[in-house]
Formats: sequence, C-alpha cells, structure tokens
Amino acid sequence: MSGTHEITELLGDGIADELRESVHAVAEVLPGIYTFDTMDLAYENRRKEGRELYDRSVASMQRTGVGFKYPTATIEESPNAVLRKLLKFSVIHRPISSIPGIKTNFTGKLDLDIIRIATGGTYDDPGQMIGDYAAASLRIVDRKTCEQAARYAFSVAMRERKSLTSSSKYTIQRITDGLFEDIVQEVANEFQYSGQIEHRRELFDALLAKLVMDPENFQVVLVLNEYGDFLSDLASGMVGSLGLGASVSLAFSEKGQVAAAMFDATHGTAPDIAGQNKANPTAILLAFSMMLKHLGDTQSGEALRKGLFECLDAGETTGDIGGPHNTESFTREVIERVRANLAE
Ligand code: NAD
Repeated sequence: MSGTHEITELLGDGIADELRESVHAVAEVLPGIYTFDTMDLAYENRRKEGRELYDRSVASMQRTGVGFKYPTATIEESPNAVLRKLLKFSVIHRPISSIPGIKTNFTGKLDLDIIRIATGGTYDDPGQMIGDYAAASLRIVDRKTCEQAARYAFSVAMRERKSLTSSSKYTIQRITDGLFEDIVQEVANEFQYSGQIEHRRELFDALLAKLVMDPENFQVVLVLNEYGDFLSDLASGMVGSLGLGASVSLAFSEKGQVAAAMFDATHGTAPDIAGQNKANPTAILLAFSMMLKHLGDTQSGEALRKGLFECLDAGETTGDIGGPHNTESFTREVIERVRANLAE
C-alpha cells in the first residue's frame, strides 16, 4: 500500500542539508507521494525564532502525526530534549541489526527491535540521602505507559511477523516489574495476539546472556527504561557501534494510539565533514525506511532497507566506512537498488 502522506520535516545543522538531499532523492523514486511541512531547526533560526519555532513544530507534528528530524547542534539547548518534553514522548523504538560488511568482535547475527519505555523506572528520581549513610530512590512503573508501549510493541511484532520478548527482573522487583509483565500479558490477551505472536518473558540478566549466545531467538524486545538503556548500548556494541543507527520516539493519545512519531538518525551533525559531500546517509535513510513502514508503505520501506544493506554488503559505501563513494554517488547506488527491489 502506498498513498499520499504529509510529514513534518525538521531541518538541522552540519551535514543535515546533504542528508536531506539524499532523503528527498530517494523519496522521489518511491510510488508513494510525500509532502513536507518544513520547520527550520538550524541553530541560527532557532536563535532568531525561539520558543515560537518549537511551538509551530509541535503543532505541525500533532497535525501530521509524523516528524522526520535531521541532526541538530546542541549549543544552547538540545532540540531533541525540548521536543521530547513538549510532545511527551514516552517510548523509543530502536532497531539494531548486524550490518553487512562491518567487522565486529561478535560473530553472530543480530536483528533486534528494542522497544523501550523511555520514562520512569529509576531515571526520573536521582534519589535522596537518608541521613549520612544511605541513599534511596523511587522506581516508577506507570500502567498507562506500559500499556501504550505494549500495544505498540505487539503491533510491530504483528506487522513484521516477529516474536516478542518482554524482559525485566520480575522475580526480584516483584511489584514494579511484576506490574509491567502483568500489563504486557493483559495486552497480549486483550488483542488476542498471543495465539498469533509468540510472546515470552525473560529475566533481564538471562536475556543478556542468551542474546549473546543465541541472538536469532530474539526479535522484538520490550523493556522498561533502564533495561532499554543498557540493552541498546550492548546491542550497538555487538553490531560494531557505528553511527548507523536510527530510531523513532513515540507519543500516545489517551486512547493509546500513536499521536506523534518522530524519526531520526542516532549520529550528530558531523561538523568536521559538513558541506564536503562526505556524509554517510545510511542512518538517516534507515530512519526514512522505518517511517515508510510506520506510514503503511511497507513495500517501499523494505525495498529501501534491503537496498541499503545490499550496498553495504557489496562494499558500495561512503568513505567513512571504507567505500569509494561520496554522499551523492552513494545515494545513486541506493536508488538503483531500491528501484530494482520495488520491481521484483
Ligand atoms: P557526531 O556524531 O556528529 O560526529 C562524531 C564523528 O562521527 C565525527 O568524526 C563525524 O564526522 C562522524 N560522523 C557522524 N555522522 C556521520 C555521517 N552520517 N557520515 C559520516 N561521518 C559521520 O558527534 P559529535 O561530534 O559528538 O556531535 C556534533 C554535534 O551533533 C553536537 O552539537 C551534538 O550536540 C550534536 N548531536 C546531535 C544529535 C541529534 O540531533 N540527534 C545526536 C548526537 C549529537
């Protein structure tokens, strides 16, 4: 399925313009029609327009439901942090998979969708001293956020025909992590997903060991905040820790539907190579592929992801990872493969 989609596009700094050209060149060859409501989040404009620019960006994303963000320099404020607060992003979905042609210490094949509740856990409370000799912090697990994250995770598992593992320390943190696991089970039952999707629980420490030993047993993994933080870094290290990651931050409506989804690459603005046609657009194009799938343009999203991996596998990459290409020629290579994949 492909249709017409309006996307809130958030411009950035450094290599952002070169990445944008690559994304638009790819978008043009896809069967769907993509129109962009563009907000200029480059530093100069942020300084000029201030809070009003963020308010407009937020209003646009609330209207379109979808944001696509290029990297921005954190100088006075972090635009990602401002948007996270204003839009109340509560869940982060980060796919992390083995990347063809990239040398790693880990020799297994990883293909994970990490879905992390990005609020609460121990991270909302830095703790407090109890007298002089002890400190304690509150650990918060919130029913509504768990339900929203679980519904989203099951919908991804359903769409991608993958298994879902929820992971926590439910035998020790019996009340907090127990609540999380109970809610995941309730959502599984409520949507009658359990028959169609394999759902397992794993203790988080066991998950880490099993992931390294049998990575192919894990696909969509749903976790609370701190576990998601640890797991994302472990998984990035396993696949070579290169700046080729992409993610989506999600906010939900009262009814639990996705109200806003903002897609971006995990790397920064790369000021050292800005304007030199050297930027590697792989991560931003992976973010675009994720967005296409989210919009329902699954075939285009998969054709793009496959095309990128085919280029990397063939050594047709940009110079930062040893290939012969600049941003433009790499984009042309990707487009050729996307066209072929769509024609299959
Ligand atoms: P960085 O990711 O921008 O750069 C680190 C190194 O990786 C540099 O050598 C850079 O050339 C290289 N690199 C990064 N992306 C690349 C790409 N697509 N192609 C080729 N090489 C690439 O990290 P940094 O230098 O720590 O940060 C620079 C700026 O980016 C800072 O202002 C930081 O706040 C910002 N930043 C923004 C985001 C975001 O908007 N999501 C994320 C991280 C950092």
